[in-house]
Amino acid sequence: MSGPTILVVGPGKAAVDAAIEIRDQGAEAVLVIPRFPYPGLPEVLPGIDVLSEHELLRLDGGPGDFRAHVISSGNVTEVHCAAVVMAPEPLPPMPSGTAGVMTLHQACCEGIPHSVQQLVIFLGPEADRPSFVRAVDLAIKACALPAHPRVWLFSEEMQAYGADELLYADAQAAGVTFVRTNGPVTLNTDPLRIGAVDIPSEVPINILPDLLVTDGVTDSEALSRSGPAQLLEGTVGHVSMGPVATMREGVFLCSSYDGGALEGESRTGARAAAARAVTLALNPLTRSAAVVDRDKCSACLTCVRSCPFLAARPGDEGKAVIDSTLCQACGVCVGGCPSRALSLPEDGTMGPKAGLKEGLE
Ligand code: SF4
Ligand code: SF4
Repeated sequence: MSGPTILVVGPGKAAVDAAIEIRDQGAEAVLVIPRFPYPGLPEVLPGIDVLSEHELLRLDGGPGDFRAHVISSGNVTEVHCAAVVMAPEPLPPMPSGTAGVMTLHQACCEGIPHSVQQLVIFLGPEADRPSFVRAVDLAIKACALPAHPRVWLFSEEMQAYGADELLYADAQAAGVTFVRTNGPVTLNTDPLRIGAVDIPSEVPINILPDLLVTDGVTDSEALSRSGPAQLLEGTVGHVSMGPVATMREGVFLCSSYDGGALEGESRTGARAAAARAVTLALNPLTRSAAVVDRDKCSACLTCVRSCPFLAARPGDEGKAVIDSTLCQACGVCVGGCPSRALSLPEDGTMGPKAGLKEGLE
């Protein structure tokens, strides 16, 4: 098969449907099936490369030239692909009483259990700045655990300055997904499920953590070490994109067969995501990218904190650099730069060539 390669990641029927659609449209599908695939997954999928018991660890590059790092038993393989279809299906909720809840202090003293697959660290409005630093440090350590858990850090405000700023950048690089909450929250019991909305895409995200670490939560009476918890509605977060988060350009999200969608709707959604991925793979876009004027940049790193796509990071002398393969030209950093050091090309057609400009890699 000679068509473009498209990576499909997911444990269930939606991923299989998307991979079949990609194959049928003449592209090459590589299906990454994480641990715990759904029962009844076909053993043989003709014309589809299947990587069983693999996890997507990191995704570099951009549309037409993604480099996906997938891991299995500690071995990392790089897969080049033109587009990616993510077909997440929520893990089944932990049986009542088995999900863990720890305070931040406990977690820092005792460490995160190595069996944890999905970790949420939740800082309520009463959490102080030292708690934030401890939480970020804990999140980085959790990402390095052998099981490579997904780690989410919920906080009302992501405030970090000076040396803390580098810690924040390290956490993003390690794969921590930051979620900014927009107000007071309440934690309650049964089941353990936390929701957020990715603001750029308005995609709701449900996280079913097997461990919740909390600090500074106003209403924590319902929390116990053994009791599962639920973050009640009203908590809407802005998800800063993690390395494998969706809604990056060239990354398409499939609806899950879980969550109330009818089976036919889910199949249609999977095929639609596959079709969009194939279309993009065959017609890669030329994208704009933000440009830093190093003479004006004051190294405040506001753009590093605010970029939803992790395209901005500290460079020489702390001044910002923009990764043109990640920049989506959304303009968030341009509007937020206090030194007016950032701009987008006026014609909107500059691609990776923009890297020739100073301050852009
Ligand atoms: S580009 Fe602007 S926002 Fe980014 S570090 Fe420089 S001065 Fe701060
Ligand atoms: S324009 Fe700025 S905020 Fe938007 S993706 Fe590019 S670097 Fe990030």
